[in-house]
Amino acid sequence: MLMSIRNLDVRYGRLDVIRNVELDVEDGHITVIVGANGAGKTTLLRTVAGLNTAARGSIHFKGQEITNLPAHRVAALGISMVPEGRHLFREMTVQENLEMGGFLCRKAAGTMAANLERVYDLFPVLKEHRGRKAKTFSGGQQQMITIGRGLMSDPKLLIIDELSLGLAPKIISEILEKIVLLNQQGMSIYLVEQNVKQALKIAHYGYVLDNGSITIQGNAQDLLDNPEVQRTYLGI
Ligand code: ATP
Repeated sequence: MLMSIRNLDVRYGRLDVIRNVELDVEDGHITVIVGANGAGKTTLLRTVAGLNTAARGSIHFKGQEITNLPAHRVAALGISMVPEGRHLFREMTVQENLEMGGFLCRKAAGTMAANLERVYDLFPVLKEHRGRKAKTFSGGQQQMITIGRGLMSDPKLLIIDELSLGLAPKIISEILEKIVLLNQQGMSIYLVEQNVKQALKIAHYGYVLDNGSITIQGNAQDLLDNPEVQRTYLGI
């Protein structure tokens, strides 16, 4: 198992946001978390990335405990997080934005050129316009820059929060295809997605988070066939 979460509780003050969550991300898999707004999906990702504090429980990555390590240590161990809402440096160029993702990780600094090439291979449109400011790109292309920045630390596990937020269906499919490609190249992916059907179609395994607890889990196809998932998340 690449990452294991056990008995995890996370609180904001007196509000229990994550309750006794048990979740595994298998090496080489695309693992998806779905759930309604406010279910705690972002909180769960942020806790893995070292941006929220666990009140109880443990998180292990590659056999090592990472619970409540500072975010830069989690990143150095090979976990990269693509946040919801993109958070690009809007006045900086594509290439400068990507380089920021490399500078922040000492391990990756020596392989900056190779990592850049890998990102440009994945998203040729970014290479073509690498000198343009980030703010001049469409939402979909900005999401590509954000994912590219996350890849610049050459992570073992790429965490993506709400990949498709605000994007048109065609561009969502295009980006999901790239995620599949990355996965085929050996990267493990841990994805939060509102676009449940499309996400489960590319995933190996999925979890439903409801009000801070995992209520359903299974192989992605089993989740797609699950009547409760169909009723609540697929509108069937
Ligand atoms: P969304 O899809 O809307 O992003 P989510 O499933 O990612 O939702 P979270 O953002 O993790 O859910 O929020 C879970 C709960 O925690 C919500 O009730 C939210 O209002 C609350 N919450 C989130 N961040 C904070 C915070 N910094 N302080 C207090 N409460 C918070």
